[in-house]
Amino acid sequence: MNTSIDIATPAISTDSNQLKNLVDTVQQLSLARNMETVMRIVRTKARQLTGADGATFVLRDNDRCHYVDEDAIGPLWKGQRFPMKICISGWAMLNRQPAVVENIYEDSRIPINAYEPTFVRSLVMVPIRSMDPIGAIGTYWAQTRVPTKEEITLLQSLADITAVSIENVKVYTELEKRVEERTLELINSLEREREMSALKTRFVSIASHEFRTPLGTILSSTSLLEKYIGEAVNENISKHTGRIKGSVKHLMNVLTDFLTVDTMEQGKTAVEKTSFDLPDFIKETIGAIEGNLKQGQHIQYKHTGDVTIQQDSKILYGILLNLLSNASKYSAEEKPIDVTSEVREGHISISVKDYGIGIPLQDQEKIFSDFYRAKNTIGIQGTGLGLHIVERYVELLNGTIHFSSVPDEGTIFTLHLK
Ligand code: ADP
Repeated sequence: MNTSIDIATPAISTDSNQLKNLVDTVQQLSLARNMETVMRIVRTKARQLTGADGATFVLRDNDRCHYVDEDAIGPLWKGQRFPMKICISGWAMLNRQPAVVENIYEDSRIPINAYEPTFVRSLVMVPIRSMDPIGAIGTYWAQTRVPTKEEITLLQSLADITAVSIENVKVYTELEKRVEERTLELINSLEREREMSALKTRFVSIASHEFRTPLGTILSSTSLLEKYIGEAVNENISKHTGRIKGSVKHLMNVLTDFLTVDTMEQGKTAVEKTSFDLPDFIKETIGAIEGNLKQGQHIQYKHTGDVTIQQDSKILYGILLNLLSNASKYSAEEKPIDVTSEVREGHISISVKDYGIGIPLQDQEKIFSDFYRAKNTIGIQGTGLGLHIVERYVELLNGTIHFSSVPDEGTIFTLHLK
């Protein structure tokens, strides 16, 4: 395809153009992520670099040569497969060297029947990956001609870069496949985990419902027994009925916690804000828990600032009750509990402070997780659900809660709401 203009162009300029083209090819191939792109770049560049009338991209398919792609002035053999032994690309691969054919009619390696219908009269075929060829790149001319040494070298360089690109594509595809597989595995295991968690929550919820009715019956029957025995009730009987009632109440509280978590996880906890007097509300909540405090424990309460707030009183009650019962549970007999509240410019803060066992440093960051209990709670009843519920409640109210605790000195929880 050399025109008179090409011939007139100084050799140095042609070299530098081809070099630029080769560098450009390397850059394009380095970005190729699939075989289609590699083949498109190679077939176009093979023609550009050699000024050929056509180029083919051949891949080895066991003992056959697969003419996968082509770019030419007329149709060649795209999509066809030929035995390695009878085609020129097979020769280049088997001999691991370029095949140069100046005239197809004078070269015994050429299956003339396959070439006759095409425009091809001369060609150069180079193997891809010289050591162990995986394919070949062919360039074809419509006239008989002697290809230059430079053209052959350029074509072989292109084939070498192509070999590296094909390796890259393989690695990249393998990597993509692995990422896809891992992602799928992750999605599946997440899905399984979600299903298991939903199943667990449903089970706990159904079991909790089913337990509550018989527990209620035990509680009321115990009270009735006490009533029927009446005057005759002696110390032993009342000690045991007291134990039954205490245990049943504890179990009912645990079940209530399970059901609360279930309701929250299903997103069924609605927030309904009303206007009420905060100090009155806190005093009532303290009143509700006072009967359950340990011997000699008492709650001191102080309020400052405004009194009326706009909040969901049921949720706030749940939060406070949890904090107060923990303060009592994790403190010794006779220890006081300090509650303070403040309302300023719509900002509400409530704190509950105790002088109990405190929370060990290594447990502090986990105590809001469900079922988590600190190491120093052995022998103290609990499920590790209370603070988890508190945290979820606080989230529902768009508030914040934090605490500070010193082991064997005490703990203070502070709640901020707007
Ligand atoms: P529970 O009291 O049922 O174990 P919670 O969720 O209410 O569960 O609390 C989680 C853990 O946080 C407790 O087991 C305990 O280790 C710690 N904790 C909570 N409140 C206090 C407190 N006032 N003093 C010391 N430890 C506390």
